[in-house]
Amino acid sequence: MTALDGQHRLILIGPQGSGKGTQGELLQVYLQLPTISTGQLCRMEIEKNSARGQEIADAVHGGELVSGDIVTTMLRERISEYDAREGFIIDGFPRTVAQAQQSLSWLVPTKVIVFELHDDIAVERMTSRRACEKCRYKTTAAYVAAHGDTCPRCFSKLVKRSDDTPDAITKRLATYRAITQPVINFYTEHGLVERFNAALSIPLIFMEIAHVL
Ligand code: AMP
Repeated sequence: MTALDGQHRLILIGPQGSGKGTQGELLQVYLQLPTISTGQLCRMEIEKNSARGQEIADAVHGGELVSGDIVTTMLRERISEYDAREGFIIDGFPRTVAQAQQSLSWLVPTKVIVFELHDDIAVERMTSRRACEKCRYKTTAAYVAAHGDTCPRCFSKLVKRSDDTPDAITKRLATYRAITQPVINFYTEHGLVERFNAALSIPLIFMEIAHVL
């Protein structure tokens, strides 16, 4: 059986800036499965300006976690959609051991892909990342300085993420170390974890992940 034949329910875990979003996009193409980012689901709900969006915005912009109930509801709705019927790749959930435990009745991953990265590199990457406000194309501050803030893919504007402020970045990394890191131990006990050095190049990490699928 090859990686393409099997059912995959992958969970990607790593600090912000570890490249899990990028690897999620590559895996999406490779496995022909949707990548579902709970951070992205949060940002889409904020854009709707709903009451739920307002509550989410307060947490996201402060660099804090959104209530587990809200995230769980949005994620369960999303993975029940047609395109996820044969599997999915999740980026950003679970963020707490409680979320991991409570989700075991409806989300048993086939593998948990862990991205390991030193805080200094994570901060540097988050501080310099830029993305298209429309198509989410990802690039860096250096690219914008050299070529301007027009997205090379869809010609919209390249912007800094509103929660990539120094305060929110520091808070999110502290939350990751204290609250999300134990999730890795939880899945390790279930024998599901594969670890990768996130400081390596994008193609190398992708090849290593593809190798274990
Ligand atoms: P991300 O794009 O993964 O960095 O997520 C952006 C923000 O969305 C986080 O800082 C949290 O405020 C919120 N968020 C995303 N996933 C979760 C989750 N599983 N539980 C709680 N909050 C979340």
